[in-house]
Amino acid sequence: MTHETKDKARQELLARFGYVCAICGRAIDRALPYRHPEGLTLDHIRPRSIGGTNDLSNLQLAHGRCNLERDRIRLGRVARRVGVL
Ligand SMILES: [Zn+2]
Repeated sequence: MTHETKDKARQELLARFGYVCAICGRAIDRALPYRHPEGLTLDHIRPRSIGGTNDLSNLQLAHGRCNLERDRIRLGRVARRVGVL
């Protein structure tokens, strides 16, 4: 996903939903930098690794922390399923 496409998607989602995390439902502080744990990130609802697309319908806005936490939970689930954990 190019920078430009990402920017466009982010703008589109912000226009639709505003600065609200789709995972926890709390507001996202727009003053925070992109890499901040509470900052705004672009999240793939269905992860790219399992065939999710970069289509707007598969994207949502989330806190960096929520985005990561969800990935961690998902990875744990997969690991348990295949017997790694
Ligand atoms: Zn959140």
